[in-house]
Amino acid sequence: MKRLWVILLFLLLGAIVNVAVAWGFQIWGDQNVPDPPNVPGHEGTIEAAYISSWARASGSGWPELPEIVWIKDSTGSRFISLIATTGPVADSLELSHAEWVVQRSKQSNYSVEVVQRGWPARTLAMERWFEFHFPTPFQWYCNGFSIAGRFIPIRPLWPGFVVNVIFYAIPLWLLSRLPMVLRRMLRRWRGLCENCAYDFRGTDHDACPECGTEMTNP
Ligand SMILES: [Zn+2]
Repeated sequence: MKRLWVILLFLLLGAIVNVAVAWGFQIWGDQNVPDPPNVPGHEGTIEAAYISSWARASGSGWPELPEIVWIKDSTGSRFISLIATTGPVADSLELSHAEWVVQRSKQSNYSVEVVQRGWPARTLAMERWFEFHFPTPFQWYCNGFSIAGRFIPIRPLWPGFVVNVIFYAIPLWLLSRLPMVLRRMLRRWRGLCENCAYDFRGTDHDACPECGTEMTNP
């Protein structure tokens, strides 16, 4: 029973460190959601795994799928942008500027910015949805937790969250054992009982007469 509580305690500590590291990357890490790569034909490289972020909070009128998805990774962070445009598609080269502005004003833009944080696995995520209909200003919504005018991610990512909790819990547990291990080593080295510090020197006991612990070295 005690062992179960110890395991739960260290999993909790591992979870706290995991969240702290993820939020540290949110506050001090790479802040830039990437600009779209200016590469013809990049459109269409939509990775299905990220499409689920698209519609979660989208209102009515959103296109079924994003047209462009791009991803940028950096240490402790992943940024994903998903974008779609509806309305007339006009080649700006064939239009006067005035015509282009008119065409542009008939378009609507929809986008999602996904931010995932955590190390070694990405563990928390948040999404920001943008919607733009000319001439209404951008509407947006973020599912992060708002604190002091900033957003921090709170949505767990699986299995990354579990992986990180274990990753941090094990060294924390080893670290907590260290003082006891050192104390036992020191007592053995000084010729004392490693359990109760009974002085073995000058005796030929095989086991401690105080507590019964067997001597492990001469
Ligand atoms: Zn002893």
